[in-house]
Amino acid sequence: MGRIVVITTGGTIASRWQGSGFAADADGREVMATAPLPEGVTVEVVDLFSVNSPRLTTAHQLTLLRTVHETLADPGVDGIVVTHGTDTLEESAFLVDLHHEDERTVVFTGAQLPMGTEDGDGPANLYDALLTAATTRGLGVVVAFAGRVHAARGTVKTQTLAADAFADPSGVPLGRVRFGEVAVDARPRRPEALPLPALPERAPRVDMVMHHADGDAVLLEAALAAGAQGVVLVATGAGNATPEIVAAVESAVARGVLVALSTRVPAGPVTEIYTHGGAVDLVAAGAVPTGTLRAGQARIAVLAALLAADSPEARTEALRAALDAAPAKHPASA
Ligand code: ASP
Repeated sequence: MGRIVVITTGGTIASRWQGSGFAADADGREVMATAPLPEGVTVEVVDLFSVNSPRLTTAHQLTLLRTVHETLADPGVDGIVVTHGTDTLEESAFLVDLHHEDERTVVFTGAQLPMGTEDGDGPANLYDALLTAATTRGLGVVVAFAGRVHAARGTVKTQTLAADAFADPSGVPLGRVRFGEVAVDARPRRPEALPLPALPERAPRVDMVMHHADGDAVLLEAALAAGAQGVVLVATGAGNATPEIVAAVESAVARGVLVALSTRVPAGPVTEIYTHGGAVDLVAAGAVPTGTLRAGQARIAVLAALLAADSPEARTEALRAALDAAPAKHPASA
């Protein structure tokens, strides 16, 4: 049915007890040994890293992106599975999705329970991911987890501990895996892929700053002082902050910094409704609203735009292009 390459990066699916807590330390071969293979699937393992995903850097993520592209250069490969820590899975998956233009599916998966746990979720998630990679086409990058298949774009970790850990809070899953079959009933809308970026000597710094009652511009200024070339303002409500933050955004944009506007609310789009420091003023100051993308993926879109272009105008355009896709909709609700 398919020749699948499994790229392993660590996470709970590769984690064992370290004496004081769990951490990733198993290699790809050990991770693969935990799961049965769907009938007709053969697997080759690329043992890329074995780290807890909060420790991942842009350098790791760009190495993963490059490895996916190198793997797909072989026409004999039918699909890819990436095993990954769940904490930052949505970020790596979205980075790969933004640069993916291939009919073959790249499937991210992981686990909420460590390797070797009786009734742990890792083996079933891995099996479902292999089946999805082997049997689907044209979905871009997806997340297979707890029996569901989600588009990478828009999907976030929504549960710290529960097995059904991923969802797009503003959309619907693309499908599900049941009784050994992948049923896909929605297709993601994806913008044109960005070209594969060169590995920069030093990755651009992109910070996130969250607004809250009593919030001022100090952290945003600190990010800029630390050399941030991009900032995600994680605003309140539909994308609102204060007149002081609007002024700081305006001066950052004037200095060539790419500013994206997301929200700390779990679901719904950033929308220009309010003035006096609201999204109306932040957008007028040059912040780019990120629709329904949450902060982690908005940050990845900013990073990808910085890597894709050099001038502030071209970067803004690249960011807008990367954002220009609606969340997956069920045909019934279209
Ligand atoms: N802390 C882990 C990680 O992201 C969590 C997980 O994999 O579920 O690596």
